Amino acid sequence: MAIASEYDVTHKCGHTQKHDLSSLPAGDRQGRASWLATTDCTSCFITKKKRANTRQRNKQRDGEVQAALEDAERDGLPPLAGTAKQTDWAVRIRHDLLRDAYDQLVAGGGMTEADYTTAILEPARLVGRAGWWIDNRHTEVADLVEILADSGQAAEAVTNENPF
Ligand SMILES: [Zn+2]
Repeated sequence: MAIASEYDVTHKCGHTQKHDLSSLPAGDRQGRASWLATTDCTSCFITKKKRANTRQRNKQRDGEVQAALEDAERDGLPPLAGTAKQTDWAVRIRHDLLRDAYDQLVAGGGMTEADYTTAILEPARLVGRAGWWIDNRHTEVADLVEILADSGQAAEAVTNENPF
């Protein structure tokens, strides 16, 4: 009787999958089939891998948000208003924009810390709406000073502090 080349393997996950083992020597097929039974089926393997990748990405994003929030607190920047998804994103955008501005203007451009605070940080503290940062996420550093100086958010921020 010929040794089978196709095996119905019941995997660890409980799914049964057909495996073509014809490329293996006949004497190795049963061993491979037994080993395959200790693994997940292809579909579960892919699903688990995708989940692990998503978890890894989420973890990285949470870490970035956390770091951005800590920097924001140190810089006196307000929590942002919006949906959780918007604020997570906007906090990172604000962080990147301000860090780029600091790198270019202070570290690279000779601006004093005090001038940076006046031109960038103070007006940025008045912008509490997540959507504003998202809308302006592609702003160049050269334009950031200008849009912060006339952000249209100052009145809103004052209103937010005194809702009644
Ligand atoms: Zn499975």
